[in-house]
Amino acid sequence: MMTRRTLLRTSLRTAAGLPALLSLPRSLRGAEFDLVIRDGHVIDPAQNIDRPADVAIRAGRIALIRPHIPAESATESLDARGQLVVPGLIDIHLHARDSTLLPPEILSTGVTSMVDGGSRGADNLAQVVEIARNAPNRMRILINISRLGNNPNPDPARRGEFMDGLELADVAKARAAIEQNRQWVMGMKARLSRNIAANHDLEVLRLAVQAATPSGIPIMIHMGDTASPLPEILKILRPGDIVTHLYAPPPHGIQDDAGRILPEVRAARRRGIRFDFGNGRTEHWTWAVAQSALAQGFPPDTISTDLEVGGRSEQVFDLPTVMSKFLLLGMPLRQVVACVTANAARSFGEFRDLGSLRKGAAADVTLLELTKGTFNFVDNYKGMRTGMQKLVTRAVVVAGKRVV
Ligand SMILES: [Zn+2]
Repeated sequence: MMTRRTLLRTSLRTAAGLPALLSLPRSLRGAEFDLVIRDGHVIDPAQNIDRPADVAIRAGRIALIRPHIPAESATESLDARGQLVVPGLIDIHLHARDSTLLPPEILSTGVTSMVDGGSRGADNLAQVVEIARNAPNRMRILINISRLGNNPNPDPARRGEFMDGLELADVAKARAAIEQNRQWVMGMKARLSRNIAANHDLEVLRLAVQAATPSGIPIMIHMGDTASPLPEILKILRPGDIVTHLYAPPPHGIQDDAGRILPEVRAARRRGIRFDFGNGRTEHWTWAVAQSALAQGFPPDTISTDLEVGGRSEQVFDLPTVMSKFLLLGMPLRQVVACVTANAARSFGEFRDLGSLRKGAAADVTLLELTKGTFNFVDNYKGMRTGMQKLVTRAVVVAGKRVV
């Protein structure tokens, strides 16, 4: 096929009677690409790519994936020998509310798009919007159905959003805040555990549905130790809604008393409810539940960190570390990558075009190395397991520019 470039080259050559354009120095001629990432192993589950290849980028977009793209064809080249080249990682559940320093730190770990999972509600949303506005990566927000967000009450017994009743679940205020912040708010968060919602879990969720419905945004619920059995909660969820902390231990997890995945949980997945990991630090998962569920064919759709400031130095650390826990549990690398790229992108309409290196996509790319050694990982109950490999971020490209 004759591209515009070859056409131009040919016509110049014809007109001048010699290869005029090619005889110009590169600086005048202009390179074909801005950046080429060379000699890495590309994993892009959305396109079924899992092989050695080079990735060329032009004007902030993916231009080409194929073996042996010459370094001279680009203004800059990035050596990816021994590394995995994957779409920029997407973390759909973390908390970036505490510090303007957190988004840059998270970006340095390879996360080019991320979602604050309900840190703030209608009354204090501006605080987290301001952090999103200043973030160097793409940050979006789930608004908490509680107008104060994750309740900051200093009294430990009253810390949950709805320990004193439903007063903080203000549907009208939530709707107004969503409308006023549509460019930032992609969904709603409702935390339903007994230490947050007491025995109001179903009522809280119904109010969240009322608040989210006019704008058509999904709801992410925080499950685990709820007053109601999980199937009662799942009945209220709509296709596209997300259940985070899917490997929370009993009571009222995804398994019955004998450890079998509940049929209602499988049915929920079939009708489009999505299940997210949400590592966090307290009471969200055990090795035993994760291993049992994986053995029964119930992996997470998405792997997320539920990271906040404290998790940076304990248990969670970063998304590649959390991904490594699933390698230890035996999930294939390619599926682990899918959970933080293609699958994560499908969780929110606005992220639909992310999570892949397809031609024309935003050139957000993460370079990971699968390091070998002896690495300890813990669950939320101090259970430790030792793995022999760990993913570590080596470089990050955002919109075609190397930032790490
Ligand atoms: Zn969370």
